[in-house]
Amino acid sequence: MSIPKRLQIKLKPGKEKPVLNRHPWIFSGAIDKKSDDALKDSDAGAIMDVLDHSGKWLARGYFNYQSQIRCRVLGWDQGVEIDVAFWEARLDQAFQARRGIFDPKNTTGCRMVHAEADLLPGLIVDRIGNYLVLQILTAGMARARNAIVEALVRVTAKHFGNDMLAGIYERSDEAVRAKEGLSQTMGVVWGNPPPEEGVVIQENGMNFRVDILRGHKTGFYFDQRDNRQAVREISGGAAVLNTFSYTGGFSVASALGGAKSVLSVDVSGPALALCQENVELNRASSRDLHHEIMEGDVFEVLRKFRDDGRMFDVVVLDPPKFAQSAAHVDRACRGYKDINRLAMQIINPGGFLATFSCSGLISADLFQKVVFSASIEAQRHVHLVRHLSQATCHPILFSFPEGNYLKGFLCRVLGENK
Ligand code: SAH
Repeated sequence: MSIPKRLQIKLKPGKEKPVLNRHPWIFSGAIDKKSDDALKDSDAGAIMDVLDHSGKWLARGYFNYQSQIRCRVLGWDQGVEIDVAFWEARLDQAFQARRGIFDPKNTTGCRMVHAEADLLPGLIVDRIGNYLVLQILTAGMARARNAIVEALVRVTAKHFGNDMLAGIYERSDEAVRAKEGLSQTMGVVWGNPPPEEGVVIQENGMNFRVDILRGHKTGFYFDQRDNRQAVREISGGAAVLNTFSYTGGFSVASALGGAKSVLSVDVSGPALALCQENVELNRASSRDLHHEIMEGDVFEVLRKFRDDGRMFDVVVLDPPKFAQSAAHVDRACRGYKDINRLAMQIINPGGFLATFSCSGLISADLFQKVVFSASIEAQRHVHLVRHLSQATCHPILFSFPEGNYLKGFLCRVLGENK
């Protein structure tokens, strides 16, 4: 009986360099045309070996002819098969990489697997209290789902004890799945369903109720954990405006940092209701805080405040991704400039602006230029006092710089630029 030959992808001459440098993506343009054509009818997400043009083995990954990213590399060791033991080793490495970056006594929510950065392309796992929330973005990962769940249960028991895990819930309802030919899916994949009323987690001692079933993405934006701490530190006695507040991450951080008042603005009513509840959940540590919510479009709200002369000491700008594709970068920059200019115009001299862009296509350099133009138009001198990035549970792998998506500046907005 002959062992069936594993499917292979052959690269064009000279296209092996990124693979050797551990970049996990192989685009259609890097693949030898004949080899690519031959794989037209292969199963989406099938495991394949990647060879250089001379036939030398380079890596192993999963292939999807439907995606421009034809192959995502899983490993660079020819002796390692992609089986349950492989997933377990990779997940264990990801969990291990989060040891020591947060104190489990006061932080019970954290990203545990950050896709490509954890050598698990297309897979996201967030811990939300006693639940894990799984998000699968590619056909290759979708095929491996059962093995991954089995491995996750074991790895979670190893790192957090046998009794921690109540359930694993899948929130694979991202639109990008369409690029892989996948429909959206959600549901329980192990254990109990998450409670209807959500799960209360701790983050640096702050309490947040997270709606696993209906919240954005997996329910909570853990990428802002470290930046919430930065805002907490500068909120003492301040009148704070938290725009794009979602469920109040920065609102609670400012409250616990001693803010006098916080106004949380978002376009989503359910997010604001949870934001209000989250502020109340932390009331014991911020008794005198005056908190208000406002449902509306931040662009309009900022313009109105500017026209009315309503001023704040701290403004947080954490908008959703404005640049969805390269074609949107210019328009996105105009949007960022607009809100940053308006925010600077309503900050008391000496006050702070915490401003972010989560558009991967906009570099930190470009974002800095945008904020600079905003300061010129706002006619204010502005200090960049701290560079902000994604939280330590969203690490950036050096071989995958595309994973560096969240950039921010903590700015001190001085007086008029005379
Ligand atoms: N800072 C938040 C996460 C923000 S996510 C945290 O730390 O948890 C972005 C939020 O912007 C979402 O809640 C979305 O509802 C809201 N949003 C998107 N466009 C908006 C607009 N034009 N005006 C107001 N809110 C908007």
